[in-house]
Amino acid sequence: MAKKMTVTAKIMVAMVIGLVIGSLINTFASDVEFIQTYLVNGLFYVVGAAFVNGLKMLVVPLVTFSLICGVCGIGDVKTLGRVGFKAFGLYLFTTGIAITLALSVAIFVAPGDGFEQAAGTSTFTAKPAPPLAEVFINIVPSNPVNAFAEGNMLQIIFFVILFSIAMLMCGDIGKQLAASAERLNEVMMKVVTLVMDFAPVGVFFLMAKTFSEQGLGLILPMAGYFFTVIVCLLLHAFGTFSVLVSLLAKLNPLVFIKKMRPAHIFAFSTASSNATIPVTLQVVEKRLGINNATASFTVPLGATINMDGTAIMQGVATVFIANVYGINLDLSDYVTVVGMSILASIGTAGVPGVGLIMLAMVFNQVGLPVEGIGLILGVDRILDMVRTAVNVTGDATVTCIVARGENEIDEAIFNDPEAGVITEVDLPHKAA
Ligand code: ASP
Repeated sequence: MAKKMTVTAKIMVAMVIGLVIGSLINTFASDVEFIQTYLVNGLFYVVGAAFVNGLKMLVVPLVTFSLICGVCGIGDVKTLGRVGFKAFGLYLFTTGIAITLALSVAIFVAPGDGFEQAAGTSTFTAKPAPPLAEVFINIVPSNPVNAFAEGNMLQIIFFVILFSIAMLMCGDIGKQLAASAERLNEVMMKVVTLVMDFAPVGVFFLMAKTFSEQGLGLILPMAGYFFTVIVCLLLHAFGTFSVLVSLLAKLNPLVFIKKMRPAHIFAFSTASSNATIPVTLQVVEKRLGINNATASFTVPLGATINMDGTAIMQGVATVFIANVYGINLDLSDYVTVVGMSILASIGTAGVPGVGLIMLAMVFNQVGLPVEGIGLILGVDRILDMVRTAVNVTGDATVTCIVARGENEIDEAIFNDPEAGVITEVDLPHKAA
């Protein structure tokens, strides 16, 4: 009998079929009203968006219960501080490498030199980026209920950690509550599996919608920029992360990359690190064998403040636009770009397209014309998908490194190819 396909394999097939059908519609049926109205903006849109909502629905409860378990599992404030400090430092460090790599490659390749589109013809107007002071002030929620209602990840993390520390300080009462949180977490993980059962369908519609709108033909005039970003993203994903995973986390990078596949697929098709949190958490804990005590903290934090892929796009975009407009950037400008991209990465929520908005902040700092962003807008959606996959890989890399330092990796799980493979859930049936 043929081996049953895993859910991940099904999702990959759905993704490819969605991409092909979407691209075909874009090429042959972009002006067929019926297809556009009822398929692209009808069925594809409705099912795809409902599926992304389904993923987002999981994020807040899952992060809350999981983080309570994590903090209570760590058990003391000192260790928590150490884990937090290490994770934060490593997130900044990997983003620093990402942007430096991107600037170096882009300066070498020089995309945009001789770009024929006349400068100043685009009409991009940037939304103002939040001032940095606000970003820091807003980590503390003035109203936690609001933070939960809006899904503000940094505020939720802040409040839940504080609450869990208080639980630790409350002795027995806290312990009972922690046991309940553990049960709720277990159930939430099951809810994740239930939603994942619909993933092949959801991913198919997401891909079909995106690619029926984003013609691959758009890439051609922008090939220099597009492929420089892609090359940097791949170098970072397979080069930098592999080195870090093997040197600092002392794990086999090939196994790591292979096991990350479900998270990559979800990041790619949703273009949102935030919506991918449930999948990243599941992969990191169940497939890579990282203890919940570390993962529950580093994964949502990473999805919020760590955006290596986004920083790479910003680095290449800076060099590209400077070339297109014939503006010379000197070393101090590049240093500013590195600093600003790291800060932008912290201030950027992991949702689709937001990296472009923060790019305006980088451009402002080095005196590049913000309307230049209009030029790269056309290809941004596809790059957004790829860079989001890199963003979540960065979160998992740092999680592994921190977990290694804390002795929180179960190598038996990591080395078992079958560990945590998502299988379809058998829905309970009432006995007749
Ligand atoms: N979509 C990216 C993410 O969610 C952010 C961005 O680069 O726009 O990670």
